[in-house]
Amino acid sequence: MQTKHTSGDAASPPSSAATNASSSDASPPLAERRGSSGDRSATRSANLSTQCVHAGELRQKDSGSITTPTYTAATFTFESTDDLMRFVNGEEQREEYGRYGNPNERSVEAKIAAMEKCEEAIVYGSGMAALVGLLMTKLSSGDEIVFFDQCYHRSREFCAKHLSRFGVVTRQVPTGDFDAMEAAINENTRMLVSESPTNPHLSVIDLEKFAAVGKANEIETLIDATLATPYNMNPAEYGIDYVLHSATKYLGGHNDLIAGVLCGRSEQLEPVRNMRGILGNISTPHNLYLLERGLKTFELRMQRQNENGLRVARFLESHPRVDRIYYPGLESHPTHAVAASQMRGFGGLITFTIRDADWKQTANIVDATRIPRIAASLGGVESLIEQPLVMSYFHCTPEDRQRFGIDDNMIRMSCGIENADDLIADLDQALSV
Ligand code: PLP
Repeated sequence: MQTKHTSGDAASPPSSAATNASSSDASPPLAERRGSSGDRSATRSANLSTQCVHAGELRQKDSGSITTPTYTAATFTFESTDDLMRFVNGEEQREEYGRYGNPNERSVEAKIAAMEKCEEAIVYGSGMAALVGLLMTKLSSGDEIVFFDQCYHRSREFCAKHLSRFGVVTRQVPTGDFDAMEAAINENTRMLVSESPTNPHLSVIDLEKFAAVGKANEIETLIDATLATPYNMNPAEYGIDYVLHSATKYLGGHNDLIAGVLCGRSEQLEPVRNMRGILGNISTPHNLYLLERGLKTFELRMQRQNENGLRVARFLESHPRVDRIYYPGLESHPTHAVAASQMRGFGGLITFTIRDADWKQTANIVDATRIPRIAASLGGVESLIEQPLVMSYFHCTPEDRQRFGIDDNMIRMSCGIENADDLIADLDQALSV
C-alpha cells in the first residue's frame, strides 16, 4: 500500500480519496506500483547474473539509453492540477519529490529486491541509515530488542547507547547462543537482530533457528547480511523478516559510494519507507547510478572474492606466524558447519591474529603489505587491510576491547579481485618482517 507522500509545499488533496484508495488489502506489492511497469520485473525470477545486469531496469529507457539515466531532479513536475489530482488520488504512479524517491532509486531497489529474493527493497544513504531507519520506525518507548553481541561497532553503539535515549531497552546476548536469546525475550521484545557472518569474527548464525525463535515468540527478525551478500545467502528464504546490507561494501563493490539497503515484504516495509520519506536518510542519484553500475558485475566479483578469500585464508591458516584465523569457509571456524550448510561461498573478509605479537609488531606487518591498502571498509575490488584495534576500537577501554573480542594482534583483511597468488605472495613477504 502506498501512502501518498505530500511534500511540504504541496496542497492537501480536497478529499481523502487517496488514503481510501490505498487501503485495500488486495493491492499488489508496493514495488510494482511505484512507477514500475511490467518490464521492470521481466527478469525478476531469472538467474542471479541475469538479474544483476537486467532486473529492476526498464527495458526501454529515456532516449533509448541502455543505462538508467541519472535523474538529478529534486522535484518532478505536473502538467496541470488535473495531472496532480490523478497522482494524489492514487490513479497514477509517478515521481513527486526527491526525498520520496526517484527513477534511479526505483531501478536499484527493484534489482536488489530480485537478487535478495524479497518482495521489496528500500535504499538508504548508508548501511547505518538503513538500520536506524528500520529501528526508528518499528520501536517505541518501552519496547526491547535482543541482539547477538558480535557486530559492527557502530550498530552496537546505536542500539546500546542511543536507542536507550528513546526509552528502548537493548539486550545483548552472546552470538549464536539461542538459549540466551530466548531467556532475554519478554513481552516487550519487538525485534531480534544479528549479523551473519558477523564483523569481524565471521560467525555464521543458524538462520533457520533465528527465524524460528522470532516466529515462536511473534517477534520480527533482522539479519545484517552485508558480509554474506545475496550471492552467498538469501536470509528471506529462511523466513527472516528484514535483510540489511551496507551497499557500500560488496553490492557497490568499487569503494566509491556509501549506501544501504533494507529488503523484506512490502507490507512490513511500507511504514519503513514512509519513515524514510520523513527522516530523509536517502541516497543520491549519482550514488544510485554507481550502485546500479556496480551491481552489473556483482556475481563475477563475488565469485572471485569468494575464491580469493578461501585461498588466502588457507594460506594464512598454514603460516607459522598466524595464531588464530576467523574465516567461515575453514573447517577450524566454530561456525563452519552452519556456514557450509547455509552459504554458497564465504566472502572475501578474513580476520587473523599474529602469534606472540604486540600491537606494534602487528602494525609492522600491516605496513609491510604492498597490495592491500590500509583503510576501513570491505567488499570492494581493491583489497583492504586494517588492524581493528587502531582503525575502529582505538578509543575503547581495554576492558571493552576484550569484551568485544578485539585483540591487539588482530588483522582484518578484505580480499578484492586481484590475483590470489599475488595476494598470498604479498602477505608472505609481509609476515616475514
Ligand atoms: N553493517 C556492517 C556489517 C558493516 O560492516 C557496516 C560498515 O562497516 C555497516 C553495517 C554500516 O554500513 P555503512 O558504512 O554503509 O553505513
